[in-house]
Amino acid sequence: MFRSWKLGTAFGIGIYVHWTFLLLLAWVFLTNAGGGHTELALFAVSLVVCVFGCVILHELGHALMARRFGIPTQDITLYPIGGVARLTRMSERPWEEFWIAIAGPAVNVVIALFLTGLLALTGNGLDDPERVLGELNLPGALLLANIALVLFNLLPAFPMDGGRVLRALLALKMGRLRATEIATTLGMAIAALLFLSGLGILSLPVVGSGPMLMFVALFVFLVGQQELAAIRYQAMRPASPLDVRPIAPESAPPATPSADPRFSGFTWDAQSRLWILWHNGQPIQTISVE
Ligand SMILES: [Zn+2]
Repeated sequence: MFRSWKLGTAFGIGIYVHWTFLLLLAWVFLTNAGGGHTELALFAVSLVVCVFGCVILHELGHALMARRFGIPTQDITLYPIGGVARLTRMSERPWEEFWIAIAGPAVNVVIALFLTGLLALTGNGLDDPERVLGELNLPGALLLANIALVLFNLLPAFPMDGGRVLRALLALKMGRLRATEIATTLGMAIAALLFLSGLGILSLPVVGSGPMLMFVALFVFLVGQQELAAIRYQAMRPASPLDVRPIAPESAPPATPSADPRFSGFTWDAQSRLWILWHNGQPIQTISVE
């Protein structure tokens, strides 16, 4: 069964749309079509399609900035809660992470500036942003959507873009693990607020309400925990892998470590700068940690 459909390729990167995206379009159509408002419903569907076009450009912003740092992108996939550019790896250099994270929202800033210019030129300004849907003003609605995308993505809720920017800036001052812990904790707090806002218990500007927001909150919570666990695991490993080699029988035997002819354990050989593992008086392996 198809899980995603390929829309095309941009800059050598495959662009896919997840099948659940169709559910979003159907939901948007049906919630707006009530009372014979077919025109409004079609407008809302085209707006969602255009917004997700901007989301593709946003993800391409991340992907092309990552490419500048030698990190390829496997693919870009659109889900109902947003787009995901799957980078082959995350940069561990704070400034690279900073630029990769900021490049996405920067694309939406450029689109918003372009639409502002377009609206000014056509004299079709936004007198009342609240009425933009009723007036079926597509560039106007798209402008508001891009402003919302910038503000929403820049929330310092790791692993969203703003949270990655925060983690990168913190990592300049402290270890990457500590920076991730702080960014994830803040991310979880914001995710809790988003969830309450999604439920309609809390009213927050920009983010709105609805089940979609609850999914975003869950995403922030789960993926944040997952990334934190990965960084914790990374921090546990030694900086450079141990280089363990068996001692060849023909090589000169290292000095016997002690008076005990059946010694078992490790000794440090200052000349070769290697740890030597002994078993019953026999040298078994050398271990280099440099
Ligand atoms: Zn982004």
